[in-house]
Amino acid sequence: MNHFQQESAYNQYPELNHGSGAKWIKGLTQNRLGTFLGGHFSDVNLSSVLFTHRLDNAEHVKLQVWSAPGLSKPTFEEAMKQKFRPAKKGDSFGPSCECFRPLYTALSEHTTTGTNHWWKVYVTIPAYWEQYERVQFEFDPGCEAMIYDVDGTPLQGITGGFGGDRRVEYIIPWEARMKGTHEFIIESSCNGMFGVPWNGDTIAPPDMNRYFALASADLVVPNQEAWHLLWDFTTLREIVDSLPGNTSLQNKALSVANEIMNTFKSGDASDIQRCRKLAEGVFGENWQSEGEYIYQDEKQAQIWGIGHCHIDTAWLWPYRVTQQKVARSWATQVDLMERYPEHRFACSQAQQYKWLKQLYPPLFERVKEQILAGKFHPVGGSWVENDSNMPSGEALIRQFVFGQKFFMENFGVRCETAWLPDSFGLTGAYPQLIRGAGMKYFFTQKLSWNNINVFPHSTFNWVGIDGTQVLCHMTPVDTYTAQASVGDVQKGLSNHKNLESSDTSLLVFGNGDGGGGPLAKMLENLRRIRATNNQSRDLPPINMGHSVDEFFDHLLESTSSGKKLPNWHGELYLEFHRGTYTSHGSIKKGNRHSEILLRDVEHVATLASIVKSAEYAYPKSQIDECWEKVLLNQFHDVLPGSAIGMVYEDAEKLYAEVQRDGKALMEEAFQVLFPNSIPLTTDTKLRPNTALNQIIGYNTTFLDRRDIVKIPLAGASAGLKTAVAQVDANSKLGYAIMDNGVLDALVGDNLDLHVSAYTNGSDHFVLRNSSVQLTISKGRITSLIDVQLHRELIADGATGGLVIFEDRPNYWDAWDVEIHHLETPTPLEFINVSVVAHGPLRASVQAQVKYGQSTINVLISLDAVGATVKPGSRSLFRFDAEVDWRERHQFLKFELPLNIHNDNAYYETQFGYVQRPTHKNTTWDMAKFEVCGHKYADLSEYGYGLAILSESKYGFSCQGNVLRISLLRAATAPDAEQDQGEHKFSWAVMPHKGHFLESDVPMAAYLFNSPMHVRYLCGDKDALAASSANHPSFAIHGAPNVFLETIKRGEYDEFETPSESDSDSPTTIIARLYEAFGGHAQATIVIGDHFSGRVAKVVTTNLLEDEEEEVQIMDDEKFGTSVKLNFRGFEVKTLKITLGDGVRAPVFRAKQLSSTQKSLKRLTKRSSWVDIDSSRLVSRDD
Ligand SMILES: [Zn+2]
Repeated sequence: MNHFQQESAYNQYPELNHGSGAKWIKGLTQNRLGTFLGGHFSDVNLSSVLFTHRLDNAEHVKLQVWSAPGLSKPTFEEAMKQKFRPAKKGDSFGPSCECFRPLYTALSEHTTTGTNHWWKVYVTIPAYWEQYERVQFEFDPGCEAMIYDVDGTPLQGITGGFGGDRRVEYIIPWEARMKGTHEFIIESSCNGMFGVPWNGDTIAPPDMNRYFALASADLVVPNQEAWHLLWDFTTLREIVDSLPGNTSLQNKALSVANEIMNTFKSGDASDIQRCRKLAEGVFGENWQSEGEYIYQDEKQAQIWGIGHCHIDTAWLWPYRVTQQKVARSWATQVDLMERYPEHRFACSQAQQYKWLKQLYPPLFERVKEQILAGKFHPVGGSWVENDSNMPSGEALIRQFVFGQKFFMENFGVRCETAWLPDSFGLTGAYPQLIRGAGMKYFFTQKLSWNNINVFPHSTFNWVGIDGTQVLCHMTPVDTYTAQASVGDVQKGLSNHKNLESSDTSLLVFGNGDGGGGPLAKMLENLRRIRATNNQSRDLPPINMGHSVDEFFDHLLESTSSGKKLPNWHGELYLEFHRGTYTSHGSIKKGNRHSEILLRDVEHVATLASIVKSAEYAYPKSQIDECWEKVLLNQFHDVLPGSAIGMVYEDAEKLYAEVQRDGKALMEEAFQVLFPNSIPLTTDTKLRPNTALNQIIGYNTTFLDRRDIVKIPLAGASAGLKTAVAQVDANSKLGYAIMDNGVLDALVGDNLDLHVSAYTNGSDHFVLRNSSVQLTISKGRITSLIDVQLHRELIADGATGGLVIFEDRPNYWDAWDVEIHHLETPTPLEFINVSVVAHGPLRASVQAQVKYGQSTINVLISLDAVGATVKPGSRSLFRFDAEVDWRERHQFLKFELPLNIHNDNAYYETQFGYVQRPTHKNTTWDMAKFEVCGHKYADLSEYGYGLAILSESKYGFSCQGNVLRISLLRAATAPDAEQDQGEHKFSWAVMPHKGHFLESDVPMAAYLFNSPMHVRYLCGDKDALAASSANHPSFAIHGAPNVFLETIKRGEYDEFETPSESDSDSPTTIIARLYEAFGGHAQATIVIGDHFSGRVAKVVTTNLLEDEEEEVQIMDDEKFGTSVKLNFRGFEVKTLKITLGDGVRAPVFRAKQLSSTQKSLKRLTKRSSWVDIDSSRLVSRDD
């Protein structure tokens, strides 16, 4: 202002003042803003002018409907062939579900939760509407819907009702307006965004009989300027409500909004123009003309906006509804991208992309175009957004292998950012797995749900159990469904936990959980927020138009490659949802048993495909199909047990298919390896006088083992009967010892641990062998003794056994067990105890517990062998339970109060273990009162320890000296019938000499989960059978702490023809190993006789099987063909072994070679280009 202007201002300042001129009463003015939109004054405020025209008469809108029968979900093509009937606004449609609840079906037999209704819509547009910027069809069926063009291309989703996710408008294309008529198709589905919860409580079980009325089917002309004013006003009001009252921007926004209300008056075009001009006082002059370029200002952004749509792959709705949600939500986003060029959209879960490809191919092509244009961003790299507590390490790897492979094959990209914003806690194995799967970064936010402690970082280096780090960002906005409000943008900075090292946050916005994604109003709001920021520093600057990967690249750059960031070591334990390790026992069991079955299938099929390559092709596509089902069920509301009942009907059916197909695949491979053999189970009926040939056990683990196996005696030969050292009371079943798969006939002389059972005839029972002894007295475990050390393991005066707790969490029923459940224990007593097996190989007592309406039968057994073959290994007590569970809101556990002290207990996690406190010193310690473990939980002190092993349970705890395994819960929301009915599961109690770190607990847990595959060989003795059974395909020497997890064929081998020798593609075998105890190891990996002669090359790879370093192959007398590998603690290593026929000579283990064979070996080594017939590999035993 120059001197003359100042002079003029002064001249206009009157000498006298007769006005009242009061300062405003700010609170009242602020409250006034609430009357400008909708509500009591909607007939006169801004809402009254949002539409210039609205037509719903039959002359302009013609509707026809066809309701698909039952819960069927016909395709577009099928629906179009049907006879449609006239319909009108106000008609009601439903129901949401029917009593008939279909099981999961193949994609071709589409069914859904709610009923589906197809609409043909014909609109006639008045000619004089040509003058308007936009004409829309407004369709509100009260539920979710999808608009298609008449050719069947999905155009966009509709979300009816009056929630914040409402989106009911479809913009009539310009060409149609020119023509004057337009025809399109709508599919409406009777479920809301959050399924159909009863009484509106989100987690209540579904309302099966809800109907939806067609609230709107109108042709409308929106008053575009009025809508822009609505968005202006909304942003201003958010600034007023979100910013501190002492900021100049907050006051300015309030005075501008107030002035707008004064100026609006009749709401005609000129009033609205003036109102909008006023808003420029905050957003800047002509801000709107900049459009998407508003973000181009070079200032350093602190908030990076990315559109996202979290679609739970199943939750309050089943998988089949998700398929529709994906199409609706993503169609909407593609449409928005065309209108808002700055819009970028990140979306995870390859499974959802695959569904889109299968069910909505035209939309998949539209999405693909946007992916290739760099606007639609696949993230996460995984098959689904899986639970990360319970899947095995190998399953977590497969999530990435299947996900990354799908993205690469379909879009030519791999993801760089792992993305699990909603998983209920994250294993410390992840940093290593994420980086091993070709990714650099990790995004989550779930720890903002902690109900005890606030997680201290937003951006940090997450260091896993093995020391691998990954750059992690937990958005300070604390949500993956931000509404892109001023408050959200503000929170990105104000709630950032480590601004001292980084001041940048990711704003992940868009409606989610049930799908939806960003709305136009969010993109409009963000433009205004950025425009405001261009004028004022009171709001953090936001940018758009970037990817999540770019956001992380920026973080890395701005923090000196993470050096400025704090570190967090170990798991990201979620202090919430601790009941999910136990809810829905059948799903936990389905997961564990499927993972192990598929591991066995891959192992046996690999062997068969190499040894009998001429007659057997590795069934890659069938194995993949099984894996896809297992990976799908690991979704973060399915495996945790937090979905509605319908989801579990589907999930159990998928697990049943995996069991059926997996067992068939394994049997096929066994038939190839051991022709004329049959599996020997307790149900096997042998024909009388069948010649005894051989019983073998096939060991799919890499561990030596000694098992007590059950042999059915009906029809068994005399020779077989001599191998049996114990016979059941009814003489139908015998017990024998099997050493590494070979029956040990000398059992009587060879038995080092005679086992026996005693009773006083009433209430006192003892199971004992020469290593351990367990006493049940008056229904409780009163004593557990290490016989060799004369050491009592049960704490003085205490007893162990089953225990039940009252289980009434504060809200999230299926999710949460709350700390106060520990205050309500009821110890349960075994009744009707009887000795059912007396030894010498197995001693068992049968016991029963009655509680409420439930009956729990437990068979407690002790064998005459150690838990493993490690010298000094104690025997384990096996508990096999059959439960008829009829309780509600009760929590069943098994507990042992131990005479062992340690501040920490050990729990198996993926590829290692995690320690958690047994005390409650701090709130961080208290929070871990119920934790996830895989195959074992252990409490050890110097010299001794005890583990509980699990074959299908994941919940454990150790409070002080009381070690517990969690067995069954009974929540009633969102599944009213959770866990009701029959259950079968097992656990084991394993005392061990020495601390856990010196113990064989991980080995015993591995064996407990992987029973021997016992087979009966008919016909002639098959040398291959003997050799395969006796000599594992791989062995590890020199490092008892290194475990072999997986044997499979290479992901990129070709499998079309049985004989790969005709093909140019290499034959590869993948072996995955890890260090299980947390220390270094130098391991010699012996490559089994079946492959050794053909090993051409060995390389280490990442988890995606990309080659890394070549490993030197060694041949020596001691091991034959082997490689040496160094491990750091908990390191996972993947070996790719390439076979080439005749490239290298077969190398047999020295101990098996005669001197003639040895000289033959040296000969064949020199003449290495000889084609080695696989029969020569197996004929050496003859
Ligand atoms: Zn979720």
